Amino acid sequence: MARVITITSGKGGVGKTTSSANLGTALAQQGAKVVVIDADIGLRNLDAVMGLENRIVYDIVDVVEGRAPVRKALIRDKHFPEHLSLLPASQTRDKDSVNQDDMIELTNQLRADYDFVFIDSPAGIESGFRNAIAGADEVIIVTTPEVSAVRDADRIVGLVEAADKGKPRLIINRIKARMVNRGEMLSIEDVLQILAIDLIGVVPDDELIVPATNRGEVVVLDKTSPAGRSFDEIARRIRGEDVPFTPLTEHVGLFERLFGALGWRPRGSER
Ligand code: ADP
Ligand code: MG
Repeated sequence: MARVITITSGKGGVGKTTSSANLGTALAQQGAKVVVIDADIGLRNLDAVMGLENRIVYDIVDVVEGRAPVRKALIRDKHFPEHLSLLPASQTRDKDSVNQDDMIELTNQLRADYDFVFIDSPAGIESGFRNAIAGADEVIIVTTPEVSAVRDADRIVGLVEAADKGKPRLIINRIKARMVNRGEMLSIEDVLQILAIDLIGVVPDDELIVPATNRGEVVVLDKTSPAGRSFDEIARRIRGEDVPFTPLTEHVGLFERLFGALGWRPRGSER
């Protein structure tokens, strides 16, 4: 029986799609059977992030409107075809092509055959968000450590609780240890104090993400990626493993270590 987990945020651009693709892939790699659903109708993205955009034949609206059974619309992942599938969003239709009952029915159709169904939510608190959580058993909120994103996340916490989805859990994405240490960025503690929900993971800002995404690859498969490591740990926590939180550090190159000792920092490194 699948657990249906919606990844949402309030604010756009904080890492919902990145989290959906990486967590889905991590769980598939760990042996679970996973479907990821792109519920951002009209702005589909998850297909490209997973490098599957050329294989789309049917999308979520085709399924809801009865033109294709869900199994026919699912696209098998290129790395884990037996364990991970994507149901893409529609590019041309608007978010009102799907309603909450459609999402409940869709997720119920998938429950028997999978371990996890992840739903990548659109930004906002309107119908797209409500559709995305309608079929969910659990909700994970993604925020960056910025005041505006945290404020929107706070709004979402209330809406998720009001919708009877229990207490959502939190991913803090794009944290920069160096900026936190200098008091220039909200710390993990600051964010948790505002939102008062359980943390399921912290993902560092990782410059490997943009080039990987452009290639349609996920960093969770890249052993050298700090964000990839975090997503792998979050996937294990989702499965119930007790994975300790590693303290926040930032990779410092040899060059910076040498000159850092002299109190000198190369230009452009003061992020
Ligand atoms: P959303 O789905 O919430 O709109 P995305 O997952 O599309 O957000 O991410 C927005 C942008 O931020 C993308 O360009 C993505 O590659 C980048 N990004 C997300 N997470 C990270 C991270 N941890 N480090 C660096 N870039 C990131
Ligand atoms: Mg997105």
